[in-house]
Amino acid sequence: LVQLYIPLNFMGMLYREIKQALIDIDDMFRIIEQHPEIQDRPGAQPLVVREGEVRFEDVHFAYTSARPILKGISFAVPAGRTVAIVGPSGAGKSTISRLLFRFYEPTSGGILIDGQDISEVQQASLRAAIGMVPQDTVLFNDTIGYNIAYGRDGARPEDIAEAARLAQIDGFVRALPEGYDTPVGERGLKLSGGEKQRVAIARTILKAPPILILDEATSALDSFTEKEIQDALERVSRDRTTIVIAHRLSTVVGADEIIVLDGGVIVERGTHADLLARDGVYAAMWDRQRKAAEAMETLQQTQAQE
Ligand code: ADP
Ligand code: MG
Repeated sequence: LVQLYIPLNFMGMLYREIKQALIDIDDMFRIIEQHPEIQDRPGAQPLVVREGEVRFEDVHFAYTSARPILKGISFAVPAGRTVAIVGPSGAGKSTISRLLFRFYEPTSGGILIDGQDISEVQQASLRAAIGMVPQDTVLFNDTIGYNIAYGRDGARPEDIAEAARLAQIDGFVRALPEGYDTPVGERGLKLSGGEKQRVAIARTILKAPPILILDEATSALDSFTEKEIQDALERVSRDRTTIVIAHRLSTVVGADEIIVLDGGVIVERGTHADLLARDGVYAAMWDRQRKAAEAMETLQQTQAQE
């Protein structure tokens, strides 16, 4: 019985761990596994980032030929500026970030960084130039310090702490019994979604890439945590070329350009003020979110009074 019990118990553990790993794994790694076929072209040169301008030129894309997803997307993010992409779920927002990371290649059209077509450069150099803060972050079964330093070899403890401070997680880490040496992940301390995202932000600050893609969390973070995360994200993106995919419009108000994507086409574009004045899709989305936020506030006040 004992012999039977141990393997079964072990299998149970293994199963739980695998399942958890699958839940924790972020889109990026899923896609890497699914698409190992994207290879460097013979003689591909490393990407040379000078200013960090990102340009999509009439990009068409389909995961399967029967169903086009992006239907002629053109936009430019000038070096150091921020472009926000908003739109309903399934519009193709995350697909844009996957193409920029070259997990997939456009069916036609081109994506250029400082004038270099990303399909012509070495993938490793492309990915080194881009920092991605995904919706759900993978943590390694290692210390929290290791998790922050990941992607930047030889980071000094003071640099790790500084990045953590900017990502507003330093205080949290210092309050842990073992500080930066505290094990996290499946076999250690469990972090909340917001804490994990701040670890990813700290990691990105430390990596200090010229180009950033922020795919924001939709998960119901409380508004205090969300505000903190938003501040941290703003800090990371300052002076860096940034594409922010936003579900909450409150985070895109300051973007240099907002692109409203629906069904794989750009249906509206402009600054927040332009789009409100236009009184179209964006203005309607803004109004809906504002009303929802107000309703939530009223509800909280009512609850507080009881
Ligand atoms: P968004 O981020 O705007 O919610 P996505 O870019 O993730 O949208 O997806 C756009 C569309 O592409 C969706 O209809 C989605 O179902 C589809 N899609 C996403 N990933 C794949 C995939 N790997 N294979 C096939 N279809 C996909
Ligand atoms: Mg998405």
